[in-house]
Amino acid sequence: AKSMGRHTYCIFQPGMGDEVRQRRSLEKDLSDAIYEEQFELHFQPRVDLKTRKINSYEALIRWNHPEKGLISPGDFIPVAEGSGQIVQIGKWVLEAALRASASAISRHRISINVSPVQFRDKDFVDDIRQAIAGAGIPPERLEIEITETTLIEDDSRALSILTVLKEIGVKIALDDFGVGYSSLGYLSRFPFDSIKIDRSFVHEAGRNASSRAIVETVVRLGRALNMRIVAEGVEDTDTLLMLRECGCDEVQGYLLGRPQPVAHLVRAVEPEIMK
Ligand code: C2E
Ligand code: CA
Ligand code: CA
Ligand code: CA
Repeated sequence: AKSMGRHTYCIFQPGMGDEVRQRRSLEKDLSDAIYEEQFELHFQPRVDLKTRKINSYEALIRWNHPEKGLISPGDFIPVAEGSGQIVQIGKWVLEAALRASASAISRHRISINVSPVQFRDKDFVDDIRQAIAGAGIPPERLEIEITETTLIEDDSRALSILTVLKEIGVKIALDDFGVGYSSLGYLSRFPFDSIKIDRSFVHEAGRNASSRAIVETVVRLGRALNMRIVAEGVEDTDTLLMLRECGCDEVQGYLLGRPQPVAHLVRAVEPEIMK
């Protein structure tokens, strides 16, 4: 049986593959983590290339495992999606991110990553409404980042949910753009405020002409659709200068700031590189 509750036990059958065993054990640890609040959020700045100021932070979850130490989301989010635990974890992220926005990093918008599984949950919109009301912040201070997978599963339902969120005032970003297979026409059907170019393109764009052409095309697309273009994974100055030259709106990456716990963020101090 799946170990969803805190007091259920996972029985390992002989012959069960190592992979299955590992996943089960992670699921069990995750249900403890949910109850014991072993998660924390780190925040990474997103910088406006025109004003040269931080205009928002992306919240990125970390799991502080009692024995294994810090586990990165790439290692446990897929497990939590498979078991459905991501719905509870996502609620925690939403509330913790808005608490942070209401306090230490006030004035800045916070983006949270939303899993397709969480998006599909029937309470998703209500949870967002409640969290915003609970934190007492304007809805515009929250942005959700979704990927193409979320749209493809049921695009008419996705459209109606995004439309409701948009009416509430929540901002919407399309994450990891370029690695999926959206057609441009498909993109224009959804009310995105911003499009985040995947870091695999951004990474090469300072040196490689064809990656640069892709970035330039996406920037033009953003202009045409009236959506802001964000480049993620900016690690060096060459790339930053190139992005500025081709009219990209915002940048995010190690060059501008690594994800950090909220206590480490220096308020309203712009990254050195932008001066
Ligand atoms: P993502 O949404 O594409 O987030 C960007 C990832 O790139 C983060 O990894 C971030 O730390 C990393 N990154 C930022 N700048 C740079 C850079 O300059 N160079 C490089 N090489 N990497 C950079 P992280 O924090 O390990 O998160 C990985 C993925 O896990 C995220 O990818 C997102 O899909 C997922 N994730 C993170 N937090 C959450 C969450 O709260 N909920 C959900 N559902 N997914 C999350
Ligand atoms: Ca993201
Ligand atoms: Ca991404
Ligand atoms: Ca991602």
